[in-house]
Amino acid sequence: MNSTQTNESPRSSQTASVVRRAGLRMTKQRRAVVDAILASKDHPTAGAIFERAKQYEPGISLATIYNCLETMAKAGVINHLHFDNGPSRFCPNFVPHVHVLDDSNNKVIDVQLKAGLCPEDIFDLPPGVTVTSMEACLRGSIPEQYHSHEQQ
Ligand SMILES: [Zn+2]
Repeated sequence: MNSTQTNESPRSSQTASVVRRAGLRMTKQRRAVVDAILASKDHPTAGAIFERAKQYEPGISLATIYNCLETMAKAGVINHLHFDNGPSRFCPNFVPHVHVLDDSNNKVIDVQLKAGLCPEDIFDLPPGVTVTSMEACLRGSIPEQYHSHEQQ
């Protein structure tokens, strides 16, 4: 008997893991929010997540979206991003990375350090400083082929 066999898709087991790590109980609404985030590679706003979550759960409210996003961000299971005065955006990429923002269209992509490098290799850190996480935004222009799009 295969004890790992379930009727869940890979995304729904990832969704369950995200909800659990945020310290939340699974509900249909939370599943819709997390499914919408995990399907998004374009660093969506809460409003965009709302529109996408409605595809999974038509009756969901914007307040539910905000509550769920805030709880998940506090628990560290999604990144809450702020770019200047624009609306908050959200990133489901759990691999350490920084963001590149295209000044002309506000598209955002994730970039990682080159293989084998760590932040201490590229930043002139004072002696004794220990890096526990990395948060940076590079600005410029991003060729169209690198723009991330929602994955459905
Ligand atoms: Zn990101």
